[in-house]
Amino acid sequence: MPGVEALVRWQHPERGLIPPADFIPVAEETGLIMQIGEHVMRTACAQNKRWQDAGIGPFRVAVNLSMLQFHQHNLVESVRQILADTGLDPKYLELEITESMAMHNEDYIMEKLHALKRLGIHISIDDFGTGYSSLGYLKKFPVDTLKIDRSFVQDITFDLDGAAIVSAVIAIARSLSIDVIAEGVELLEQLEFLQRNQCVRIQGYLFSPPVPAELLAERLAGLRQAAASASSVPAEPFSDQRVADLDFGNV
Ligand code: MN
Repeated sequence: MPGVEALVRWQHPERGLIPPADFIPVAEETGLIMQIGEHVMRTACAQNKRWQDAGIGPFRVAVNLSMLQFHQHNLVESVRQILADTGLDPKYLELEITESMAMHNEDYIMEKLHALKRLGIHISIDDFGTGYSSLGYLKKFPVDTLKIDRSFVQDITFDLDGAAIVSAVIAIARSLSIDVIAEGVELLEQLEFLQRNQCVRIQGYLFSPPVPAELLAERLAGLRQAAASASSVPAEPFSDQRVADLDFGNV
């Protein structure tokens, strides 16, 4: 398994678990997203270091960057500081940006991405295909991984156009030596299609729903066992190529 993705939830004392869609937009409007983003990155790095110290992994932890965070002038310094404070080897941190963040002011974006890469971290493009996808920047920007948006993945088994788009994106990424992950994989048929098209990394419910950080080790052990006994879980060649979603509880 190459990595996990940190997803934030808000455990509210009276209202219970609040999904990100309900509070992230407000956090973005108010600017509070800066503190939340920093907290998530710090928590994710610290958690990953704890796992490694406990002999779990090593794998990357991916953190979603918001537009505001990406454009903050001291982003690179703040990432460097978090890595230093938590002691996580930079190669085990992955930052996810979306296409829309990379749209404007190309020189500035390029400089920022290169500065992040110099830290030794991994950079991926999230939700690929939903924004103003530009093949030009895929070639120019220092991007390690492209994550194909779930909306395309959902289509691949019953829509010829959807299937054509996904296989074309995989082929382009491969020819540029960029890794590809398919997001939102829920069905075995989707996995089989992706496999036939040389996309061996998947993320989604077929592998694991989001799980709280403290349950990850258990979840991994369960998956290993299931793969070993070749039960309902798809077989071994993929077991080290999947990405689990991971839930970081309270903000
Ligand atoms: Mn993401």
